[in-house]
Amino acid sequence: MDIFDRIGKTATKAYQFTADKTNKLSKEAKLRINMNNKKSQINTLYKEIGKSVYRKHLDLDLEENDIIEEKIKNIDILSDEIKNISNQLLDLKDIKECKNCYSKILKEYKFCPNCGANQSENEIKNCDVQDYAEDTLEILNDEKENN
Ligand SMILES: [Zn+2]
Repeated sequence: MDIFDRIGKTATKAYQFTADKTNKLSKEAKLRINMNNKKSQINTLYKEIGKSVYRKHLDLDLEENDIIEEKIKNIDILSDEIKNISNQLLDLKDIKECKNCYSKILKEYKFCPNCGANQSENEIKNCDVQDYAEDTLEILNDEKENN
C-alpha cells in the first residue's frame, strides 16, 4: 500500500471516530433536553395535584378525586419515560444499573462490584424516578469533568 493510501485510511478512521463522538454527544444532548422537559412536566403535575388536594380540603369540588387520579397516572407514564431516557443516556456511556443495589456499573460486568449480584438480566425495580434521573445526570457530569 502506498503512502497516500495509508494517509487516506488513517484520515478516514479519524473522521469516523470524530463523527461517532459527535453523534453520541448530540444524541446525549437531545436525551437530556427530553428528560428535563419531562421532569418539569412532572413538577407541574405535582403542583396541580397539591392544588386539587387543597380544593378537596375546602370541599370546593368533589370531582377533584378524578382529576388527581388522572394526574397521578400521567406522572407514572412520564416517570417510565424518564427511566427509559436515563437508561439510554447510561447506555451511551456503556454504563448500566445493578438490578440489586442500583449502583451504576460498566455494562460488561457480569457481577456487581458493589454487592456481587449477578447481572445476567438487568431490570430496574420501582424507585423515585426524579432521584434516579439526578443520579444519571450526576454520573454523566462527573465523567465530563474527568475528561
Ligand atoms: Zn449491586
